[in-house]
Amino acid sequence: MPSSSPSRVSVSQLKPRLLLGPGPSPVSGRVLRALAHPTLGHLDPQFLTLLDDVSLRLRGIFGTGNEATLAVSGTGSAGMQAALANLLQPGDTAIVGIHGYFGGRMAEMARRLGAGVVAVEAEWGRVLEPERLIDAHRAHPRARLLSVVHAETSTGVRQPIREVGAYLSGTETLFVVDAVTSLGGIPVGVDAVGIDVCYSATQKCLGAPPGLAPISLSSRAVDVVRRRKVPVSSWYLDVGLLMDYLGAGHVYHHTASSNLFFALHEALQEIEEEGLEARHDRHRRVGARLRLELGARGFTLFGDPGHQLPELTSVRLPDGADAVRLRHALLERYGIEVGGGLGPTGASVWRIGLMGNGASEASVERLVGAVDELGIGSV
Ligand SMILES: *Cc1c(COP(=O)(O)O)cnc(C)c1O
Repeated sequence: MPSSSPSRVSVSQLKPRLLLGPGPSPVSGRVLRALAHPTLGHLDPQFLTLLDDVSLRLRGIFGTGNEATLAVSGTGSAGMQAALANLLQPGDTAIVGIHGYFGGRMAEMARRLGAGVVAVEAEWGRVLEPERLIDAHRAHPRARLLSVVHAETSTGVRQPIREVGAYLSGTETLFVVDAVTSLGGIPVGVDAVGIDVCYSATQKCLGAPPGLAPISLSSRAVDVVRRRKVPVSSWYLDVGLLMDYLGAGHVYHHTASSNLFFALHEALQEIEEEGLEARHDRHRRVGARLRLELGARGFTLFGDPGHQLPELTSVRLPDGADAVRLRHALLERYGIEVGGGLGPTGASVWRIGLMGNGASEASVERLVGAVDELGIGSV
């Protein structure tokens, strides 16, 4: 056979990994078993009841009474696309905070939707000072939306959202928050903060496989969608159509994957059993332990230590250590996945995620044990 032909593989022979990167995170056996439940039709009354229950549980985790709370088919980027495509019409102004990779992705999507983007930028690893976002709004008071990334997975920085939420609630501008890496790991509080559209993904701190994007829209966001003159450019992610499917009418729209919803439902059940506050505490405790262990070995934080996320730690390796080679060694020799850098963080950092089921003392010990065996940081 020519050497270029793909090798034949069998899924059962793939080696399991300890997923300590920026997502996906480890999925529990219980959630995987739920995923394997026999597939149901997308209009089966049992499935529709399950969808309603998922929506109810998501409201609890988002901290909202929003009726328009659902999980759209697709990954976190589908949530981002749904948020922006439903709110923006060509010619609208969107104020987009950019302090890392995912803020940049939001700006790109908004531009493609025909919006005029006012970018408020901060250096990667820093937060966007709320005053600067508020000033941008004062300069563009008619902006349709202002968006920020709550947990910048590219840098490990936690963006303050309270001040901006409180300020925008007195304006016509909608507050959009990317909670892909925050939901389930740190408090989000959609209603308390005054977020109009908040979206997430199942595979980061929620502990389910990738494939669904929870999203919640306030009533004023739903009004903006309803009053649109131009139909939503994405038929697939049109929230009005999705609500007709998921809502009381149950009109066929697309074939939602019942299996992914089984898994998400089980993951939400696990969160309920643990308790949301206890889960946040666990992420905080384990994240602090990781930073202590790595600090003792000469690793340094990439981002502002005053705004460090517990669930995602971006670190520079000790002097002389080859971040790329050692990351491959971690995967090949120890079966541990960590992330590499993005953009300006480049080849010099590791991004370590302790998300969902990955946020455990055992994960930290396995990682630190491997770091020691690889001789990183030893003199
Ligand atoms: C992972 C991530 C996304 C994109 O999610 P996908 O599931 O990869 O599409 C968006 N925003 C943030 C902050 C993320 O961490």
